[in-house]
Amino acid sequence: MIDEALATRIPEGWKPPVRVVECVRMLERFLVVRLVADAEADLARAQAEQARAYALAARTAVAEDEREGTLEQEWALRSWKAEIAAVTNTSRQAVAGIMGRSAVLTEDFPLVHGALAAGEVSMVHARIVCEAGTIIVHDDPAEQAARRQLFVQVVLEKARSTSPGRLKDFAIKQAERLTASSLEERYEHAMASRAVLVTSEGDGMGSLGGRHSLPVLTAIDGRLSEMAKAIIAARGADSDDPRTFHQVRADVFAELLLTGELTTCPEVAGITAKASFTMPVLTMLDAQNGDGGAFDTTPALLDGVTPIPMSVAKALAANVPAFERILTHPITGTVVEVDRYRPTEAMRAWLRARDVHCRFPGCRLPAENCDLDHTIPASEGGPTSLVNLADLCRWNHTVKGSTGWEVSQLPGGVMEWTSPTGIVLNDVPEPRGVTFGPSPPGEPGVEIGGVAYRVQPQGAEPGPAPGGVPGPALGPALGPEAGLDPPPF
Ligand SMILES: [Zn+2]
Repeated sequence: MIDEALATRIPEGWKPPVRVVECVRMLERFLVVRLVADAEADLARAQAEQARAYALAARTAVAEDEREGTLEQEWALRSWKAEIAAVTNTSRQAVAGIMGRSAVLTEDFPLVHGALAAGEVSMVHARIVCEAGTIIVHDDPAEQAARRQLFVQVVLEKARSTSPGRLKDFAIKQAERLTASSLEERYEHAMASRAVLVTSEGDGMGSLGGRHSLPVLTAIDGRLSEMAKAIIAARGADSDDPRTFHQVRADVFAELLLTGELTTCPEVAGITAKASFTMPVLTMLDAQNGDGGAFDTTPALLDGVTPIPMSVAKALAANVPAFERILTHPITGTVVEVDRYRPTEAMRAWLRARDVHCRFPGCRLPAENCDLDHTIPASEGGPTSLVNLADLCRWNHTVKGSTGWEVSQLPGGVMEWTSPTGIVLNDVPEPRGVTFGPSPPGEPGVEIGGVAYRVQPQGAEPGPAPGGVPGPALGPALGPEAGLDPPPF
């Protein structure tokens, strides 16, 4: 703290009296606190400048839309937002949010903006004043402006000397006194913004936020607590349920929403919660064989995007009907099996690319106009997997279903049809692009389930299909799959 040149004059071994040390420490503390306060004021000034810039961008963009006659479509404004988002590496939504708040701050509440620019109040304070101030409305714009100005003078004075929490209560009270609108009107207006939003928070967790009427939310809160208390009270002394009150509340909340029925609306009966986990197929085998292995640390992907611990995904997919597994090929990442009747969009796209047209011998109806048919019907236990689905046009679908034709799928997507008179016809998918298949004996390859694979050049015959990977959950999924073309996505 002492000037460096002066500090060199302190004799070595000098022991200053305690009183002097204390004074220096107090001075040091005073200066550090000032440093923090100054940094906060600098930040406020920078944020005032940021708000000015965003408001200017919004005004200029709107003026451009006005000139172009596109005020309603907001073409210019959208374009500006996209450009600012790209330049600042943020999202369009974030840019739109700051633009809106900046316009309110600089144009509707210039005095607040001034206080921010002077470093007298923080951005948090400024926002509270603006948000409470917008409650104040009046049919006469001049009257509204006068009331808001009065409000700002009173609340800004308070903002200079109190915390955001206290300021908020004070500001809302003052705004209520000055507004011409009734609470009923505002409630009705605010209720239009009710919504439910899930936010991903990492570590496989997230938050579900519900914006709704406060009385309704309070009632929900109360019910969750009562149910949690009842569950905890019913635990015996030797219960091994370690969950806390808040954890039980969260579990009750989840179960109610996953399994509850909407009695007022019969149209939604039967709609169940759905979420899918994507996991490499070998991970499932590792789990079944219990020998861990290279895929132990691979997370499952919730809806193909968000990493979730594999153990959690496996347990949920096995025990909760709402969750399905999408098993992927360990190398290509292609979907090989889904534990449900309806194929995924990715499977549809993959099959359209493989089949090109209806797979009944000789039929050329484009796959786009076909339906996916379970070769072995789902009702007979046929899986919804790439090795049991094929595109069939409506007409041939009917032929297959009701005229004594039989069909099975062979490795490589080959459809073996047997006519009612016993004639066997193979429909082979048209080869395209690079394939990969088992390596010839003695040649290197990537080992999957004891079989070595390698990429095969375009036009090469896929090698003989491997014996398939054993495992009860898998069936024929990996074996016939391995000789197929890589997916088009
Ligand atoms: Zn057809």
